[in-house]
Amino acid sequence: IVAAFVARTPGSAAAYAKAREIFPGGVTHDTRYVRPHPLSIVRAAGARKWDVDGNEYVDYFGGHGALILGHAHPEVAARIAEQAAKGTHYGASHPLELRWGELVRELVPSAEMVRFTNSGTEATLMALRLARAATGRPKLLRLRGHFHGWHDHMAFGVTNHFDGTPTPGVLEGLASNVVLADPNDAAGLVALLEEHGPQIAAAILEPTGSTYGQVPLRPEFVRLLREETAKRGILLIFDEVVTGFRVALGGAQQALGIRPDLTTLAKILAGGLPGGAVVGRRDVMELLDPERAAARGIEKIPHQGTFNANPLSAAAGVATLEILKSTDAIARAHAYAAQLREGMNAVLAEAGVPWAVYGTHTGFHVFTNPRRLPGIGPHAFDPFAFGYEDLKVPRGAQGPTKLALAMRVHGVDIMPWPGGTVSAAHGPAELDRTLEA
Ligand code: PMP
Repeated sequence: IVAAFVARTPGSAAAYAKAREIFPGGVTHDTRYVRPHPLSIVRAAGARKWDVDGNEYVDYFGGHGALILGHAHPEVAARIAEQAAKGTHYGASHPLELRWGELVRELVPSAEMVRFTNSGTEATLMALRLARAATGRPKLLRLRGHFHGWHDHMAFGVTNHFDGTPTPGVLEGLASNVVLADPNDAAGLVALLEEHGPQIAAAILEPTGSTYGQVPLRPEFVRLLREETAKRGILLIFDEVVTGFRVALGGAQQALGIRPDLTTLAKILAGGLPGGAVVGRRDVMELLDPERAAARGIEKIPHQGTFNANPLSAAAGVATLEILKSTDAIARAHAYAAQLREGMNAVLAEAGVPWAVYGTHTGFHVFTNPRRLPGIGPHAFDPFAFGYEDLKVPRGAQGPTKLALAMRVHGVDIMPWPGGTVSAAHGPAELDRTLEA
């Protein structure tokens, strides 16, 4: 597999050799570190992308989940170009940010007010600070394995350091204020809240489970978390950076019928350009309003950001949200993903491979853990029967990398967990190509 991949991708190999001299690890995002070398991509359109060697791929990265309409959607691209010609930064308020904020408020059920940021990481950082300021409490509760960006408060308990110890460079004083709970463990959650509750400002989670639902969360568990946090004066933060405008137009909170106090958004929000937002309860968001904070006798939270709500991201975000609102794009992506999971499971069953493909909404995850699946056919697979350590592939494992490389050799680019996310631009031709690969 490696030899076939290397033979097809000499241009990517050369680019990587150069990149290793310029970038640590030769990459600019940890999950793009793939042996023997990552792909160097020059063009993308719809559900496809092309590398420097001219190879075509059906794409399941989807801009790390930012591109539910697919690559270079004509309407989105046109609005970005139109805006670029009119200026990319005014150092001022502008009408497009207003339209963007209005759309977010209209679509996301709990969004009473909106503050734009530049990324999901910045959004969770601000949401957690707002919660601390609003409650006057120091601690945060998070779920093991849930990703909330790379800032100091959330840099452990996600891909490693599950004991809550800080990763290198993170202060012990921050780590000791973060309480880690196990997903779907109701008794454990209540015990942690009993012990730390009065000191906890916020509980943050990915509402459908970690890594796009690779380790899915039971809705009953999320409901319990809502009830227990409300009872104890703890703010509930839904991290909808992935699920927002994807699981449903109004995100996972709409699909679940649960109202969080604060929500973080990014990815689809900005239509394929950089952008994020924290949205939620007016009384909490007003900690960012100098006059209203002063009227309540509290100190305002500072928040700057050169590119917050910049016109280009606003143009792409407005175009994307308007299309999602007025078409069946989300439903089409969901339908394609269901067909894909079904088709992949049929291929596995036919080949007698003891793996299974599962997922919800626009996602698919390939369960490749050979130790855990003897005797269970792909169609009987229930991810809730497994724990985090079974569903997550250990770092450095060979199988998923080989699978991802083999798929690349056959013209399909999946994410290395292994799995991926689909867009409304995927159709029958992409489905056939993927199942063939
Ligand atoms: N939260 C979740 C759930 C995410 O998946 C991500 C990014 N993958 C982030 C936060 C961080 O967002 P960003 O990469 O825009 O900083």
